[in-house]
This record gives sequence, C-alpha cells and structure tokens, in this order.
Amino acid sequence: MFVQPCTSGLPRGRFAPSPSGDIHIGNALSALLSWLQIRRSGGSYILRMEDIDAARCRPEYARRIPGDLRWLGLDWDEGPDIGGPFGPYTQSERMELYEEALTRLSAGERLYPCFCSRHDLLQAAAAPHGLSAEGPVYPGTCRRLSAQERSLRAAVKSPSLRFAVTQGELTFADGIAGKQTVQRADGGDFVVRRADGIPSYQLAVVVDDALMGITEVLRGFDLLDSTPRQLMLFEALGWSPPRYSHSPLLIGPDGRRLAKRHGGITLAELRESGVKAERVAGWLAWVSGLLEEPEERTPRELIAFYDQSRIARQSITVTPGMLAWLTN
Ligand code: GLU
Repeated sequence: MFVQPCTSGLPRGRFAPSPSGDIHIGNALSALLSWLQIRRSGGSYILRMEDIDAARCRPEYARRIPGDLRWLGLDWDEGPDIGGPFGPYTQSERMELYEEALTRLSAGERLYPCFCSRHDLLQAAAAPHGLSAEGPVYPGTCRRLSAQERSLRAAVKSPSLRFAVTQGELTFADGIAGKQTVQRADGGDFVVRRADGIPSYQLAVVVDDALMGITEVLRGFDLLDSTPRQLMLFEALGWSPPRYSHSPLLIGPDGRRLAKRHGGITLAELRESGVKAERVAGWLAWVSGLLEEPEERTPRELIAFYDQSRIARQSITVTPGMLAWLTN
C-alpha cells in the first residue's frame, strides 16, 4: 500500500485545488496548462481535492470545482467524483497515509517536536523571510532541546513536528523556470504536522504525488519555493520525485496577484455572465504565450498548440484591455 505504484510509464499529471474558494482565472491557467501537458503526451490526468485545512476549505467549493473545470472543457481519468486505482482523491480521506509517512520519517530521525508559539516565531523574524505563505525561516530553537526538556514541555503543550533539513546544495530543473539551485537549509526546518495534528501541505502533497504515481507536476509559480522542501521529503521517504514545472502567475496592473479586487474573475462568474468556455480557454492560452492572438478555442483544440518552451517565464500583467477581450 505504502509504495510508489508502478504505472504504465506514461506521464501522470494532476490538478490539486484547495477548495477554499471558486476557481478563478489564475488557478484555471495552471489547470489548463497541466491538462494540456498531459493530454499532449497521452498520459493520465488526476484531480485531487486538497482539503486538509478544514478552517480554510468548504465542502460547497469542493462540490463546485469539478463542475467549473468540466465547464472549461477539462476532464480527468481519476478523481474524487469518478474514483480510480490510487484513491481516495480527497485529502481529508487520506489521513492514515500521512500518519504512516510521519512514522517513517520519525523512525529515520528526521523529525523533532517544536513547542514554539506563533509569538516566539515572530520574535525570531529578524532572519530573512522564508516561504511567503509560511512565515519566517525557523531558527531551529527546538532542534536543540534535550529528551528531558522535550518530555517536560510535551506535558503542557502539544508540539508541532518539524522536518530537520540537512546542509548542502539542492538543484533541480524546472520545466518552465529552468535550472534552480538552492541551499537545503535556506527555508529552515519546516512543519510536517501542525500542533493540532493536521499534516502540513508539504507533507500531504508529497505523500499524494508519490502514492498516486504522479510524474509531472505543473502548478503556479507561487509554489516554486515549496519544491525544495518537497524534494527533500521525497528523498527522506525513499521515493523518486516527479518533474516540476511552475507556470506564470496572473497579476493585476497594481503588481499584485489577480484577485477579486481586480474584478472578481472566477470561472463561475464568467459562465454566469454568458462568456463561452472556449473564449476563456483561448484567452488563457494567449496570455500564457501558447497563442499569438486571442481566439476562441476549446482545451481539446489547444492540445496541438501546447509547447512548454513558449510559456511565459514571468508573471503576466493582465491589463484592463486584455480583460476586455475576455469579458466582451
Ligand atoms: N492545493 C494547492 C493550492 O491550491 C496546490 C498544490 C500543488 O499543486 O502542489 O494552492
């Protein structure tokens, strides 16, 4: 059960949304590009619902997301709504697998309990910032606690578990962003299980990509800096990692990630206002560099245009003029 499956040898890719909101055009871009990458190669495409963070996720979004993606013209071979050989495809139903991975990491002495509070972590924030989503780089305070100090503290506070990173360089070739070299320790020791027992995104995504036999991860550029952490977890768990490609983010004229304030452009809103799905797909292909001009195209028609070397390597600034073509 807990081994990487032997699959057909054909590529396997996935789209792994967190149901914390409706799919907006930024998410739709990475969904479309990862779907095109896999469909172009004749591989299998998987939909996975990343709902372990119950405070952020809502079941109604998890229900709506497959419909929005189907409306756009995407399909999948395995997923929460259709099942498949490597399910379940919803993270909240996979908790034992994450626990098993934690047990394996802890047997290899790669984890330690961390008792620091949010306040302690912010106090240590003089250090350079780590992953924007995960706060400052952890200075390693609890790594140095003795066994006795650990048990004393554990009596009064549930700890989170951190993965102890090693020193040295880590290099990987990103399919869009190119060669990346980082220091393993740059991001600090990171949380793999929160104090409330919930596995972290980094752990769950690695377990799922491994056990679902994923060979190609194409996702938004905001996750590029998570990739070294995920590669280190793959290594520590003795699994071979997928190839990673990080697609450009859509940003507004103010330089910030495209969001509600720029006109709230979810797939549901576009559909409700009468925009055709092929207009959305063609627009996404145009802004990302696959088409020379905006034109209405179904995702299926776009397979022939998929060429990873044409995808923009930098964030795409979406101007009001570009949006006008989409919404008119
Ligand atoms: N669930 C993550 C998100 O929606 C994406 C995970 C991934 O693609 O690795 O941001």
